[in-house]
Amino acid sequence: MDNPLLKKSNEPFGTIPFNDIKKDHFIPALDAAIDEGKAELDEISSNGDDPTFDNTVLAFELSFSAIDRVAKPYFHLFGSESDDAFQSLADEISPKLAKFDSDIYLNDKLFTRIKEVYDNKDKISDSEDLRLLEIVYKDFKRNGANLNQDDKERLRNLDNELSTLSPKFSNNTLKATNSFELWLDEADLEGLPDMAREAAKMAAKGKGKDDRWLITLQFPSFGPFMKFSKRRDLREKVHRAMVTQCNGGEFDNTSLCKNIADLKHERAKILGFDNYADYILEERMAENQKNIFNLLDNLYDASIGYAKNDLKEIKKIAQELDGLTDLEPWDFSYYSEKLKQKLYDFNEDSLRPYFQSEKVIAGVFDIAKKLYGLDFVVLNNIQKWHDDVEVYEVFDEKESHVGLLYVDLFPRETKRSGAWMNPIKEQGMEDDGIVRPHISLTCNLTKPTDEKPSLLTYSEVETIFHEFGHCLHGLLANRKYKSIAGTNVFWDFVELPSQIMENWVGEKEALSLFAHHYESGEIISDDLIQKIKESQNFMSGTLCLRQLSFGYLDMAWFGKNNSVDNVEDFEWEATEKTNLFDKIPGSSMSCKFGHIFAGGYSAGYYSYKWAEVLEADAFEKFKEDGIFNRQTAESFRDNILSQGNIRHPMELYKAFRGREPKVEALLRREGLLSVDA
Ligand SMILES: [Zn+2]
Repeated sequence: MDNPLLKKSNEPFGTIPFNDIKKDHFIPALDAAIDEGKAELDEISSNGDDPTFDNTVLAFELSFSAIDRVAKPYFHLFGSESDDAFQSLADEISPKLAKFDSDIYLNDKLFTRIKEVYDNKDKISDSEDLRLLEIVYKDFKRNGANLNQDDKERLRNLDNELSTLSPKFSNNTLKATNSFELWLDEADLEGLPDMAREAAKMAAKGKGKDDRWLITLQFPSFGPFMKFSKRRDLREKVHRAMVTQCNGGEFDNTSLCKNIADLKHERAKILGFDNYADYILEERMAENQKNIFNLLDNLYDASIGYAKNDLKEIKKIAQELDGLTDLEPWDFSYYSEKLKQKLYDFNEDSLRPYFQSEKVIAGVFDIAKKLYGLDFVVLNNIQKWHDDVEVYEVFDEKESHVGLLYVDLFPRETKRSGAWMNPIKEQGMEDDGIVRPHISLTCNLTKPTDEKPSLLTYSEVETIFHEFGHCLHGLLANRKYKSIAGTNVFWDFVELPSQIMENWVGEKEALSLFAHHYESGEIISDDLIQKIKESQNFMSGTLCLRQLSFGYLDMAWFGKNNSVDNVEDFEWEATEKTNLFDKIPGSSMSCKFGHIFAGGYSAGYYSYKWAEVLEADAFEKFKEDGIFNRQTAESFRDNILSQGNIRHPMELYKAFRGREPKVEALLRREGLLSVDA
């Protein structure tokens, strides 16, 4: 069979031959690639010569390219262009890859060689070689390679058990969400805007009831309901259902919370750490729990007063409008919407005509030109996974080739929702030299219609800038080894290049480049820009406090090896100072906190705020020097974007900023800093 996944690409720039790849190519190609991978593994681990950096670590870094040639296109298409049959291939592919991974980490002969190179690392002088060695060695250690046989076995069992508990947790949350239905008659719809009514009608129709309306616990349904429904009794019902989800009852998650936390702590203990957070933080910019609590406490001190004030304002408007004197949690969203309408009389949709997607893309390219001297030139000779995709060749100001950028903007049935960047080919060394990257940017933006071009919301524009920031991190990568290049950095550092880009959207100088009315060509007015800025800080104290309560809760579970008896009490104690309302009996956040119990965020929830502190502080440097200052941009590229994981992120950050990050910039931006502070 002529299988394009089995050979190196002959396409321009070695791009993936998307048109030639068929679904049936993947499994046979993967099987062959894994056989090849095993042979490579064998060759390195059975080498008769003494272990050296070149014959062991470098050889390992350059191995398994055949697997990459299958896995990269598969997972790319899985997200961007796949039907059910294509997706279900993952049931075969993922376990094969996981099995091969554990074959690597449990290969004692290989680890013994790596360890010997590591123990003699003072013989290595090249800093990048040293960094790669450190990363590879640690990676093996953190996967248990250094343990005795019994502990290895325990670790494997723990991982197996954890891999079954997380889906159970998510399943319970999903089922609990689906089990709640609030059925409404026309008389119950008071206050709901047309869009919310239509959605509720559609949901009811889906269940075969044409003459009624249905509210569920899916966010697009309950969100608008809590904001707009005049029926206080029904808001209470929905709120109580939501906060008590999975705490007891048919879909109880309490024991899963305890179990998952216990097992993770045990995993950390086997590997020599006191608790799971300490294990995780070994590979994070934040480094230790003290730094995280410093961050949380600082933000808490700054936001609590503002949050209390938000509540006071909401109580005031509730009394003014409806004579309400006993504001409850289920009134909060409703009256905060009323307050928002009173304060900012502007409709976000009025911005759309200024954000035509083609102009926004041209604008973000323009900004990259001003900052980094980059040019984007459309290529028409590259195979793509869909006709909607545009491919650009990126050049620097010396007209040298920087890489390729694939841009795929609009939703379709074969594409998953959300927005993301992924490298299709990473920058770094391959067998025949160092290659430049191929990066993909994917969004699901408002589509053009027959009458109108694609006109975006403000937050969609921010999304493009965000993902484009990740793309720059990938494109401007300039390292010797792929494992160290581009976005292969510590997890709480990876959102700095992306989030910082969102700041340009809020700047007049940047907006004037691309925010032109699609019909009249008129540039967005200062008045509109001002309104966007003001409304963005609405309730920022309350929102910050909410994020902090999640952060504290996460650290309570994973920062200490507690034996939790009652989840509700434990949780209340951990988050009490962030709660502005009394406790609702039966309520629990933990029981539906999928991020930390079923996702990758255990001991990692803080990183949202961590990254915001970094990008706000870094962007202030641009504000001080001018947002298009070439020197500042070059310093950001040379110290951060091109560096990957060559040094600890704090060192990279300090090299750019001249000091460690401070929280003040974020507080200033969000209006959480009094002027005289
Ligand atoms: Zn991101």
